[in-house]
Amino acid sequence: MSRFLSKEAMKLAPYTPGEQPKDAQYVKLNTNESPFPPSPKLMKAMTRAEELKLNLYSDPTCGRLNEAIARHYELKPENVISGNGSDEILAFAVRAFCGEGKGVAYADITYGFYQAQTALFGLEAKRIPLREDFSLNVDDYMDFPGTIVIANPNAPTGMAVPRADIQRLLEADPDRVVIVDEAYVDFGAESCVPMIYRYDNLLVVQTMSKSRQLAGGRVGYALGSAELIAALNRVKYSFNPYNVNRLSIIAGAAAVEDEAYFRQCCSAIAGNRAWLTGELEARGFAVLPSCANFVFAKSDKIDGGALYRQLKENGILVRWFDADRIRDYVRITVGSMEQLTELVDALDRLLEEV
Ligand SMILES: *Cc1c(COP(=O)(O)O)cnc(C)c1O
Repeated sequence: MSRFLSKEAMKLAPYTPGEQPKDAQYVKLNTNESPFPPSPKLMKAMTRAEELKLNLYSDPTCGRLNEAIARHYELKPENVISGNGSDEILAFAVRAFCGEGKGVAYADITYGFYQAQTALFGLEAKRIPLREDFSLNVDDYMDFPGTIVIANPNAPTGMAVPRADIQRLLEADPDRVVIVDEAYVDFGAESCVPMIYRYDNLLVVQTMSKSRQLAGGRVGYALGSAELIAALNRVKYSFNPYNVNRLSIIAGAAAVEDEAYFRQCCSAIAGNRAWLTGELEARGFAVLPSCANFVFAKSDKIDGGALYRQLKENGILVRWFDADRIRDYVRITVGSMEQLTELVDALDRLLEEV
């Protein structure tokens, strides 16, 4: 490690993003992006006039964007904060609610970024094991005194927790913040957004990266009581006041306003997911019940690492995690039918050889 690093920087645990290879044309099913282009309305909104205003700072309050999001969810703008992707929002939240003597708890198998942020802020994290079947038991969190982070649906399993379970957690301790990361909720899980006015300790984090075809636009947001949102703004204005750029404010607002296109894309993904699950099961895979735009599957013939490598040699990228409990699995993004057909054809070729 470099002699220039601070003591704090030495303790970091940087997140490893899914591969973004430049060397070949891959069928890219490894980072849960949408296979569809952004909304046509968004393309129209990104006018030349707006580009020319890039000499001026963006609106630090993200007014246009927060108003569009608030309208969509029937909330007030004071219940919304937007960020440069939801990863940034999660960082604001963790910094706002956790610190010395205020720890954080999350599942042993979940989004890897929680661990990276825990290290960044020097926090104590309690990792609570999922059940054997990868479902999450909220009773395991009831007595935890710090902040709780739950990805719902969870990544990389795709499995969801019922809203009533989260409600029990919120009620068990009104002085504890529960962060529900709903990055994948639009693909078929129960959102906690309708409970925001009832529980001032609930923070729901969402993103436009997965269900609104805007991963490259980097737009994420949190919804919660005005008190929680003010706490996040306190951190934001200590870190990066102009955190969402001009073009992304426009793109995000247009994406959330095009309800018809959003629904069309989500329902196409749900249909493709059902098809992919059937094809995998017909080839001897065990597939976890997914409410997300990916499936987590293990073969009865080939281990996860080998499958990942052989698919890559065949021009198809999926995600494999070399970690306890999930080493046998690969995570496959639900892409377009063209992409999924290529995947299934490759599987047939490669399973013939084992
Ligand atoms: C993809 C993802 C995010 C972050 O998405 P952004 O692109 O930063 O908005 C957050 N949480 C989970 C569980 C994710 O999978």
